[in-house]
Amino acid sequence: MEALQEAAARVFAAKLARAQTLYRDPLGFADANRERVALFVTFLLATVTWLRWRAQAGAAKAVAVPDLSVFDDVDDAQIQRLKPTELVWAIGVSAKAVSVSEEGLLRGFAFSAAKSTPTEDEIFRCFCKAMAEPMNEPLDQKLVPARPTLAYFLSTRTCSDAVVARIAARLASYGVQVVTEQTLTPAMRATMQKHVAAMSSAAQAALQDSSGSAMAKSPPRACFTCLKSLPPAPEPRASGDAEADPVLHCTKCNAIYFCSGACHAKAAPNHAQQQCAAFGLQMGHREKWKIDQFPFTWSNEKQLLHAYNQVNFLTQRGIHNMGLWRRLCGCFQNRKWGELSAELRGTWGELSGADEAAKAQARFETLHLNAALFPLDKALAKAPDAIHTWQDYYEAVGLPLDDPAALLLEVPLTLWWILRQHILPLVGSQLAARPNKRLVVHLAGAEKEADLLPLFDVLLALLPGIQLCIHMVNPEMSANLTPAQAMYTSKSSVHGGSLTITLHRGVYGPEHASGEAFMTKGPADVVVIMNAALYASPAWPPTLGVLYQQRSRGTRVVCTEPMEMNVAITLEGIRKLGVSGISLETRLNPFRQPVYQWKNNVGMPSYSNGFIWGL
Ligand SMILES: [Zn+2]
Ligand SMILES: [Zn+2]
Ligand SMILES: [Zn+2]
Repeated sequence: MEALQEAAARVFAAKLARAQTLYRDPLGFADANRERVALFVTFLLATVTWLRWRAQAGAAKAVAVPDLSVFDDVDDAQIQRLKPTELVWAIGVSAKAVSVSEEGLLRGFAFSAAKSTPTEDEIFRCFCKAMAEPMNEPLDQKLVPARPTLAYFLSTRTCSDAVVARIAARLASYGVQVVTEQTLTPAMRATMQKHVAAMSSAAQAALQDSSGSAMAKSPPRACFTCLKSLPPAPEPRASGDAEADPVLHCTKCNAIYFCSGACHAKAAPNHAQQQCAAFGLQMGHREKWKIDQFPFTWSNEKQLLHAYNQVNFLTQRGIHNMGLWRRLCGCFQNRKWGELSAELRGTWGELSGADEAAKAQARFETLHLNAALFPLDKALAKAPDAIHTWQDYYEAVGLPLDDPAALLLEVPLTLWWILRQHILPLVGSQLAARPNKRLVVHLAGAEKEADLLPLFDVLLALLPGIQLCIHMVNPEMSANLTPAQAMYTSKSSVHGGSLTITLHRGVYGPEHASGEAFMTKGPADVVVIMNAALYASPAWPPTLGVLYQQRSRGTRVVCTEPMEMNVAITLEGIRKLGVSGISLETRLNPFRQPVYQWKNNVGMPSYSNGFIWGL
């Protein structure tokens, strides 16, 4: 019996892991994914532990294994019955994932189970899934099951033409014609152009109608134990009080929901023992720290912007796939870290201008930011010391609160906030005495940070007179960068400071800690790890050793986390390694990204760069 239950546990774990990699992981930023996967692993371990516990308790009843066969098999008859749609679909195949979208709206997404180029089967299944059970993210998207008559592969696809041909043959049996840019006929091209035009006017209309914008008040929920979908929480009435929530939930922490008493009972022992108190504390911080409070017209306490993939939001504003905004959706998944800024800067050489000022303006325009931000190092209307919130910063640079730039500015501003709060008070007075007046920052595990290099120019105004040098290190950094692309420099004539950023491919190790790997040679003033989730990375125990060594030599190590609970999990791991605790207690980052990364099965606050703490 015990062996049987062990086997069932293994099958269950494998199925869940497969479902997760194949479909459940919505398209997102890599850091968000990393953290979601970590959360999922936590959940998985809890489930397996529970199954073991049941086996040991000698439970006579067979273990109920949820039926996830829907992820394995396509129901042929179901797809044949779907209504055909005239809308044109796009199939994107990147180095690791497949996406299926309907004129800008994501219908389906899947990671390859092997984290390599998706197989023919995976692409086919993802497409079928997108027809029969479209994902609805963002949440106000109301996509219905449908079968397109025309679908095309994006030219950036990483799969071979042979795979495309086989998929085209398989989908032809459903009446779906699949084309590539080579096989697209002029008539089809005309149809597509017509739809693209209709799409942008629809997006304009949605923008006029604020009720149709990309924000959700009551996101969908899922059972903590079996991940089954549950109805959203009731919306608050005009009087302000919400009606009672009919969904079963943990009444102590209010962070998790259940589909049934059975699922509640399954989760209860482990949850009560290990998680409930921590979850409850963090749910309490949500109110106490005003975690969901933002001043923006597009994201505020009443209506938060939410979703991993901002295609809708960006399309409505006419900035989808433009300049730096490309980092905010999944259309460019197959670009390695650092390549987006390299590509943008690649166009700068061709820009002509009468003088330096005109050239600077032309370069700025390639970023597609609000003109009010030009130049990025412009004099601020408020002293940096008087800036404590997003609202302060927007006022200081003259941005209206309906501008979405905070979605990108969270990265340089989080770094500035860490330096200003925790580093400059320690080293500020020494800076003037240094021959080069240099402040050195190591950004370990830098991801989207490496794609936003030109945006770091805002630091010139916030750190006047400082020669800031940032070294970004990540094993996933693009290997295709030329030495010129792997280095970004900028100077401010207004504030007298300068900025140098260098990109490095590799795991942050002793040669980085000592500074030997960098042109600045010496150690850093601070090592910053954004959206760290250290426990989720297989490289973290050795890296942590390096970081602790640095700390013992006097270098501060500051991390940010999307979820507060990541700190507790990391500390748990640290204790096992036998190293000592933290130097900076967890606190809210005022410059966190104003996008609530909602998780269906754990209703805890999660924001990119949400919380700051230090080793
Ligand atoms: Zn359940
Ligand atoms: Zn609880
Ligand atoms: Zn996109």
